[in-house]
Amino acid sequence: MNGSWQLRHKLKKIKQMKKLIFYFTACVMLALLCIPGPASAQKKPKFKALVMAEGGGHHIAFTKAARVWLDKLAEEKNFTTDYISNTDKIDEDFLKQYQLIIQMDYAPYGWKDKAFAAFEKYITEGWGGWIGLHHATLLGDFDGFKMWPWFYQFMGGIKFVNYIPKFAEGKVNVEVPSHPVMKGVPASFSVKTEEWYTYDKSPRPNVQVLASVDESSYVPASDVKMGDHPVIWTNPHYKARNIYIFMGHSPDLLENEAYKKLFSNAIFWAVKK
Ligand SMILES: [Zn+2]
Repeated sequence: MNGSWQLRHKLKKIKQMKKLIFYFTACVMLALLCIPGPASAQKKPKFKALVMAEGGGHHIAFTKAARVWLDKLAEEKNFTTDYISNTDKIDEDFLKQYQLIIQMDYAPYGWKDKAFAAFEKYITEGWGGWIGLHHATLLGDFDGFKMWPWFYQFMGGIKFVNYIPKFAEGKVNVEVPSHPVMKGVPASFSVKTEEWYTYDKSPRPNVQVLASVDESSYVPASDVKMGDHPVIWTNPHYKARNIYIFMGHSPDLLENEAYKKLFSNAIFWAVKK
């Protein structure tokens, strides 16, 4: 009698212990699921891009549309974007954080002295890649500022001359389809609303031209022409992978599949050392 009571008591105790262990394990597992992992376990961005974008003016509609597109791409492809609308912060330490600079419609004049110097070093020493759009070739004396001679050389030794203020549609012809930036880009594509800057001369002798615009395709036709008219090129004389894309005025470019492909290719090509 006494023995069986002891056995029953023991069995009850074991059951209670088992229950306790079960609840304890369940609680621990639940807690582990709820606690976020350490920062290192989260996906580290592949690279950081600095975007120089004008904060106003007549390119703001493009900038806004491009920013939406770029930030979506950054999220999908796991990189980050920081935007600046003036050069106050730019010095060597600041630029060293970035593996890519996108000069998105940001003119090459009126920069802070330390920004000029740091940028030159970034490109000549190849700290990262560079993509310049549209306004980046507004080279000359503007708004009371003298031309930046170093940037003039970087862009292939060209000076801005004229543009089509009321815009024209134009046909862009790819010249080097084998270049990684042109992968998946049609051999020729139309750009609806552009100003088609002209320069004092073609940059062709000093750069590698990847695409040019056919001036005879302009709709409406225009007398603002320069003959050989490159619109996309890279300058192989600098350590940084660099690419200039002239098109970048109108927000409708972000509805142009060829342009988006080109821009995206340019990012992933330029960021590789
Ligand atoms: Zn423009």
